[in-house]
Amino acid sequence: MAAPVRVRFAPSPTGFLHVGGARTALYNWLFARREGGVFVLRIEDTDADRSRPELVTAILESLRWLGLTWEEGPFFQSQRIRRYREVAAQLERESHAYPCFCTAEELQKRRELAASERRAWKYDGRCRTLPEDERSRRLSSGQPAALRFRVPEEGSTEFVDRVFGPISLAHSEMEDFVLLRSDGQPTYHLGVVVDDLDMKITHVVRGADHISNTPKQILVYQALGACPPVFAHLPLILGPDRQRLSKRHGATSVGAYREQGILPEALVNFLALLGWTPPEQREIMPLDEMARSFSLDAVSKSNAVFDLEKLAWMNSEILRHLPADRLLQCVESELQSAGLWRAEFAGGGRERFEKAVSLLQTRARNLKDFSGPGRAFFTEVFGYDPEAARKFWKDPAVASLLEALASDLAQLSPFDLESTEHCLRAAADAKGVKAGLLINACRVALTGQGVAPGLFEVMTALGQAAVVARLHRAAAHLRASQAQATAEKGGES
Ligand code: GLU
Repeated sequence: MAAPVRVRFAPSPTGFLHVGGARTALYNWLFARREGGVFVLRIEDTDADRSRPELVTAILESLRWLGLTWEEGPFFQSQRIRRYREVAAQLERESHAYPCFCTAEELQKRRELAASERRAWKYDGRCRTLPEDERSRRLSSGQPAALRFRVPEEGSTEFVDRVFGPISLAHSEMEDFVLLRSDGQPTYHLGVVVDDLDMKITHVVRGADHISNTPKQILVYQALGACPPVFAHLPLILGPDRQRLSKRHGATSVGAYREQGILPEALVNFLALLGWTPPEQREIMPLDEMARSFSLDAVSKSNAVFDLEKLAWMNSEILRHLPADRLLQCVESELQSAGLWRAEFAGGGRERFEKAVSLLQTRARNLKDFSGPGRAFFTEVFGYDPEAARKFWKDPAVASLLEALASDLAQLSPFDLESTEHCLRAAADAKGVKAGLLINACRVALTGQGVAPGLFEVMTALGQAAVVARLHRAAAHLRASQAQATAEKGGES
């Protein structure tokens, strides 16, 4: 029987969780779910200069937000240094590795010389052939040494990548790479192999930028007498200009998309399609459905293009069909981060809150639409969109029309869809204006926006008292700006 599938996601905490990293985590997670396997989280923090502990928290938080939970870990490489040194010592004992005394400055000089002679540089193997007594003498005199892997001189290393197919690299193309630095710190190549072995990883699923590392790592497995895992490298993610996705193309961290009001459901769905084609070619799929049909064989090796418009489209599609409970939860956290959340939305004002959310859902494309254009549904503190005001409040009669309507609405009982509409139309008739003019003017007064859900639904969602107060407030605002305009004109003449 085949060993149970065990995969891992191994971010380095040198930056926030990048969308490329999130896609790697997602594919590992989907594969583990699909195979009934285990998803391990490992933090590769051996680079003390570049790793930042606070970024670990941010990475875990982003993974949780995406719904990509792990069964084991997080394991920290920084806590396993002794183990790496132990394996390094074994490799050295068995002559798979040797100490290298070349200093950074010496290496730099030789690299520059090679460049000036137009020779490609790789480590020239100077310490590889040091006589044993010389080596011992230098070591016992305390001369600092890195430990390098002894790459075989002949032949090549081959493997069959689950996505990219057969890959082969001639040993003549590889240099004797470092396993331990001269300060005793393990390198990525050593840590990754030791961990993948100790953690019994069966499949290494990671970005295609690691393909060139794989032959080196396979050599280490072989030197340890171990069988390498299956490798599956994922296609690169490019920006619309077909260059590797970077900050130049806009936001690249998961957190930034979260802050832009993108739903985690939309981001995972979008990322899943950057390299994988689901069997039914359906685009919108929840995570559990993706997990049922995910397969490494359906991952393409062609580069994937990160298309922001598609993400925005998916987000609006998913948002509009989100189950009410889930949407309420998302809007709550959006309002919280925008400082608009009030305790009453969870208590006596719950119904009004739910009504507002469901009204806004039909038009919303993004969670920001609730705290931005939809702000007036959750607070009395909102401004008027200048363009909407210019367009729908230009008739000088608007202020008095709004006041008259406010008085009529204040008398209304019951205050519902039908009665509010009837009242507004009657008010328009009485003043000899088109109902449309009053509807548009009212919409700006009640929501601050020129475009909003149906006016009478808005009225009933806000409730009688708020509607009346807002109409008066808008009328007062209009009168004040009319007075100011007149004063300015007077001043000019
Ligand atoms: N720490 C490596 C990275 O963040 C992981 C590489 C691997 O998965 O082997 O790129």
